[in-house]
Amino acid sequence: MDEFELIDQIFHGPEESTSQVAIGIGDDGAVINVTAGKQAVVVMDTLVADVHFLESQPADSIGHRALAVNLSDIAAMGAVPRWATLSLTLSEMNQNWLNGFAHGFFELAGRHEVALIGGDTTTGPLAVSVTVGGEVEAEGVLRRAGARPGDFVYLSGPIGGAAAALSSTEAYADSALHRALCWPQPRTALGAALGSIAHSAIDVSDGLLADLGHILKASGNLGAEIEADKLPLFKQAVALLGYQGALELALGGGDDYELCFTAPEKRHQEILATGHRLDQDLFWIGRITEHGGCSIHGSEINLDTVSPGYQHVWPR
Ligand code: ADP
Ligand code: MG
Repeated sequence: MDEFELIDQIFHGPEESTSQVAIGIGDDGAVINVTAGKQAVVVMDTLVADVHFLESQPADSIGHRALAVNLSDIAAMGAVPRWATLSLTLSEMNQNWLNGFAHGFFELAGRHEVALIGGDTTTGPLAVSVTVGGEVEAEGVLRRAGARPGDFVYLSGPIGGAAAALSSTEAYADSALHRALCWPQPRTALGAALGSIAHSAIDVSDGLLADLGHILKASGNLGAEIEADKLPLFKQAVALLGYQGALELALGGGDDYELCFTAPEKRHQEILATGHRLDQDLFWIGRITEHGGCSIHGSEINLDTVSPGYQHVWPR
């Protein structure tokens, strides 16, 4: 199979014929219709074999993940994803692997009505780079900046599961932890709904302390008081690593792809109602303060021992 057959047979999906796409795969460039009055949001993430995923991992989970991490960034901006481009660097033409990869990619793309509109294919060490474009109304853009003292801080789901899955062979084999690592679910509906409610948002890709830290810094060096007993942990991580170990991974582990956001206290009921309407878990975890960085209440944890941001170390 050569490059052109590959594109034709594997990536030329029906998905590109949405109303958004004027010219899709097959020309020198794609042309997309833009919605009047909206702004475009563009994100990109690259996944390198054995850095961001295991080459031995099922191919469909790699295709899923390559798109999911980008959809998560789109969600954190409050936007609705529309289209994607895909740059594939392949170490070999393995049709089985490519079919699996495409299956994972298109299953997620279909669920989020994202059209694959183009890409690039080359040979080299296995790597996948995806760009996603989305749309948002100017008033609905969510930023890291914008948190205010007194804001409540929320998470869209349990954290630390992906990092726990990498902590041992036993943890990697646990289905809930494995799902957290290999099949992250981007919170796009929530992100878009929060545009008119939240003050600030970020997706947790590098660990809660690091990512909430980005919100605090971008919002003018604010602080946060997080309640340890409100942090949603994976019970499987607690069972395997103990409460303290699971808490450390929740604070410092990466790759969770939940949204962390802040909103005024007076909108708490509205936030809960939004979660209910979208069938999306939401967890109140603490408050924004005027000064002092991030502190964890109700735990003996020494924050100096928590990883300051996710270091990519995958088992080989
Ligand atoms: P060019 O030489 O003009 O850059 P290519 O031969 O690289 O064009 O690509 C031909 C068409 O196939 C383009 O529309 C391109 O966007 C698309 N394409 C190439 N690789 C991929 C891929 N991995 N996924 C989706 N579309 C791809
Ligand atoms: Mg060209």
